[in-house]
Amino acid sequence: MTELICIVCPRGCHLQVDPENGCRVRGNQCPRGETYGRDELINPTRMITSTVRIKGAMYPRCPVKTSAPIPKHLISEAMKALDGITLNAPVKCGQVVVENVCGTGVSFITTRDMQQL
Ligand code: SF4
Repeated sequence: MTELICIVCPRGCHLQVDPENGCRVRGNQCPRGETYGRDELINPTRMITSTVRIKGAMYPRCPVKTSAPIPKHLISEAMKALDGITLNAPVKCGQVVVENVCGTGVSFITTRDMQQL
């Protein structure tokens, strides 16, 4: 039995997931916890947030995130994809920074507008 804390909402239910029994989930107070518990054992994924350099804006770095969750084991490799990226202001929220991160089909996108100085 694997014990997890559900991170889908602030309630933080304590889940027990049984890998011997089809990843049956107990302790969840809603169906989203069942999905989270099962996925966490079979194929854990995470959204990634970070920043990249930007030239010509009020701040030196622009916040970015993945457009969807990616497999947890690819996080380090995905972060390397941001090394050496420098944007030029202006940028729009949702602008693609890196496409198809680690072959996942997911992109890094900006999460705010940044005007040119
Ligand atoms: S199981 Fe449902 S209620 Fe409990 S923490 Fe997860 S999402 Fe929230």
